[in-house]
Amino acid sequence: MTNLLPVVIFVVLGALSYLLARSVYMRYWEASDERAEAGFIAGRTLELDSRTLYSPRYGLAGKPDRIVDRDGVPIPEEWKSAGNVYPSHRVQMGVYLLLVEEEYGVRPPYGVIVLGDGKRVVVHNTGELRAQVLGIAEEIRATRRRPAIPILVRQPPAKCRACGVHQACRQRSG
Ligand code: SF4
Repeated sequence: MTNLLPVVIFVVLGALSYLLARSVYMRYWEASDERAEAGFIAGRTLELDSRTLYSPRYGLAGKPDRIVDRDGVPIPEEWKSAGNVYPSHRVQMGVYLLLVEEEYGVRPPYGVIVLGDGKRVVVHNTGELRAQVLGIAEEIRATRRRPAIPILVRQPPAKCRACGVHQACRQRSG
């Protein structure tokens, strides 16, 4: 145990330094022009692109850009460089709404997509969106159970060029 003491101290100090640095950065970010200019509202930031949420129950995972506390309710916010909200953005937000509910035990009434020009678009957490997300998740699971059938995807060329399996992928677009 004596031999392990320096390692334990090192790990504990490392963890404390990380938590302190993260807390200082989050406070700076909440008060910064950077946050306001990007279209993110003021409020206590619970997560800042820092944690992947996972739901074993639904078989879903995702990492919202930010989760902000609005009067005790966790609200996911997602930044998009696009000028419009596309259906895929809404489905992605639907996944986040489910994951946030699983994680915090509170159902967020909405999430917010922040567009490239700073415009904020509210995505309501409706039963319809929820059913759509769960339907897509079930389709993906069913396809995975049949590995001979490829899952068709269409990614932007820039994303494919940066992808680690670019050379081997038959569906690459760039
Ligand atoms: S190269 Fe293939 S796996 Fe990579 S992002 Fe493109 S489609 Fe997806």
